[in-house]
Amino acid sequence: MHLRDTALGCTSDRLWVDTMEFVGAWDGGDIAPAESAPIPSMPRILVLFDMNGTLLVRSKSKSAFGSRLPDLKVDSTYYFVRPGAKELVRLVRRMECVDFGFYTSMMMQNALPAALFFQDEEEGGDDDDKGGGGCGGSQAFMAGWNVYDQKFNRFDRQGDKKWGGWMRHLPSVWSAGIARAGRHGKTSTLTIDDTFTKMRENPRNVVVVPEYDSTPEAEAVDIYETLAPFFQVVPHSYVLSCPSVQDNT
Ligand SMILES: [Mg+2]
Repeated sequence: MHLRDTALGCTSDRLWVDTMEFVGAWDGGDIAPAESAPIPSMPRILVLFDMNGTLLVRSKSKSAFGSRLPDLKVDSTYYFVRPGAKELVRLVRRMECVDFGFYTSMMMQNALPAALFFQDEEEGGDDDDKGGGGCGGSQAFMAGWNVYDQKFNRFDRQGDKKWGGWMRHLPSVWSAGIARAGRHGKTSTLTIDDTFTKMRENPRNVVVVPEYDSTPEAEAVDIYETLAPFFQVVPHSYVLSCPSVQDNT
């Protein structure tokens, strides 16, 4: 898939990118076209990326992807990063109107190495941050971004547990770290996740992407090429066009 072939659209209840049915939790409202006039004093939005199934796959097998070598090994687990994921994270994190975080049900010791993998080499893990605090310890608060780990999820006692039994708990995110510093809430938060079930309590705040796994079909999709056009318009449209924002309730 190439940028020029990627389309973005919005119906009354669904956000989509290309033909892959990126089922977004969009509750009506049109997306402003990319050529919209520049908007002064852009409000900030909080963008949270899920890890497993969205940015990477973890496996106990080093050969889970055939001849492809793993990008990372944490303890005895191999991490395979999704094609285009590092470029996408770099793009979004550098957007001036975005506060960025990883949001995962992993424990911090498993999540942090992956988060650091996405950090550019020139970036340091210093204290020159935007939030003045951290999530799960200062080590998780690096150069203005956060890792929201398992503590920011709650166990889901209902339904099928094929997603691991965890679901998101955004209020705990909004009360910590960069989200708290930015005074973010349900009107300014966007999560990117492969599992809608985890976000069903906040369906307006998620865009669901196809799960990344070790199949050739999943490996053939470059997530940067797919979502970069989306992020070119979302900071404008999400804040200004989404009814949940305008309602500010
Ligand atoms: Mg996931």
